[in-house]
Amino acid sequence: MSPKSAKRSSPPFDRTQGLRINYNLPEIENRLEKFIYDVENESRLVRAGLKEKAETAKIYQKYKDLFSREVLGLVKNQIDQLRESSRTISSSQLEILERIYFALTDGLISYKTASLDDAIKTYFSKAKVKINGEELAYFQISPKIAKEPIFIKREKYDDAAEKVIARVNPKQLAVLKEEIRILKNLGFPGYLDYYSQAKKMNYTNFFQIVQKIKKETDNLWERTMPKVSQEIFGRTFKNIRACHLIYLRSMSLYDNFYPKEKVVAVFLEFTKGLGLFDLLSTVNIDDKNRPSKNPRAWCSWPKPPEEVHLQIKPIGGEQDFEAMLHEGGHALHGAGIFKSLPFAFRNISRSNALTETYAYILEDLVFDPLWLSYFLNVSAFTAERIKKQAYFVNLMMLRRYLGKFSYEYEMFSKNAILRGPILYSRNLESSTGFVTKKANWLSDMDSGFYSADYLRAWIGAAQIKDYLVDLITSVRPLSRDFRRGLQFGTVVQGELPGGAILETILLRMEADAPDESDLFYLGAVLGSTAMKDTLFKG
Ligand SMILES: [Zn+2]
Repeated sequence: MSPKSAKRSSPPFDRTQGLRINYNLPEIENRLEKFIYDVENESRLVRAGLKEKAETAKIYQKYKDLFSREVLGLVKNQIDQLRESSRTISSSQLEILERIYFALTDGLISYKTASLDDAIKTYFSKAKVKINGEELAYFQISPKIAKEPIFIKREKYDDAAEKVIARVNPKQLAVLKEEIRILKNLGFPGYLDYYSQAKKMNYTNFFQIVQKIKKETDNLWERTMPKVSQEIFGRTFKNIRACHLIYLRSMSLYDNFYPKEKVVAVFLEFTKGLGLFDLLSTVNIDDKNRPSKNPRAWCSWPKPPEEVHLQIKPIGGEQDFEAMLHEGGHALHGAGIFKSLPFAFRNISRSNALTETYAYILEDLVFDPLWLSYFLNVSAFTAERIKKQAYFVNLMMLRRYLGKFSYEYEMFSKNAILRGPILYSRNLESSTGFVTKKANWLSDMDSGFYSADYLRAWIGAAQIKDYLVDLITSVRPLSRDFRRGLQFGTVVQGELPGGAILETILLRMEADAPDESDLFYLGAVLGSTAMKDTLFKG
């Protein structure tokens, strides 16, 4: 059944408007698509610092008919009917309906919490702090910590941030409680059950995997972190606050090798090399520096593949390039989606684990010695040191996210919201060893177990990279002419539609392939093949 052939049901009655609205599935999809467009653009403008006041509540008001019990009931009925029907169920029919259903329930939650959420966003974008006579916007604090070489000064910034966060915590808690109340009203036992169904994910099993990864990396982490603490902080690794993680993550020692002015230009050149430059015609890259612009780079898809936005606020250094490639992975994903796919496959995903996988495959290239030498002219010696440091940062981030997910899982599986602050600091301290402030328990949590999406994406990206290594060593020994690889990739991309690319590359590598090939070039082309041809369909 295509969405268009969905059966019309009797029109629901919208009590708030006193109007009868005709609804069927195509109309719901159509309206949902418009709603997503409006709401994505509203949050983008606020994040970009182009609009001071967040007014998503107004948008939810405009589309409130979508989030009524009647509309949800209509979609739910169709799901139930399809499941009960004796005929074989097409998995894509059910998948389409379920994606729409969960997009609507997500919308309902956001509709009910929109005013509070707007107040929180506006609060953060307006918040100011004074540190040693210097006035800073709240969003400037974290970049300051990232670049501040003096240990004590970083903690001063951290103290100031804590005050801003503590003031808004009651509002953040109210949003979470309201979300849980709505989910229970819809018939879900709780937060964990809702997201397990919405994201098709068994979090209890995943928690076991997370525990296993933690155990397997315990020794490595406990050996590595004290050395780094001594080397970078000049201190024993004891009672060190989590704010210093921001500094370690920024790898600011190597900032000089990553010039701010080149961030966007390098990404464009890189994309050209992949043969995917055409995709960028629908990607709007905003790299302007506005004080109230959120420093966290961001990609949004109001209407993929026709309209995709990438926001970045370069501050200088490695993190800019990492963020650019990461968000670039999302942007290419959005712009590469087939226009002909049904709306639910184009616009709604179960989780973000897939798109984060693409983001991580690209992101890690900024530590690759070949990539560094080609795009940024970094010497082999320095590149090796960067690679080593990046390995540490990746391990650190992994440990942090293992802690984040464990905290969220423990809190929600035990219905222990009131113990949230202590569970947060305890789990984060157990996995990172850094002293973690309880006040951050809500602002350091992305809704819907996003921490698990990241972890799954890291696992997925690592598996794809391993696969590529095996593939390439089985074909021929590696050589290292990166430039020729890029050119070759571009030519093949231009000549052929998605499906035939990989086959052609392998054939040519056997026969008249260029003499040189390398993991990066094949990985990039293969990644783009998969992006265009297979994975994006679901
Ligand atoms: Zn991402």
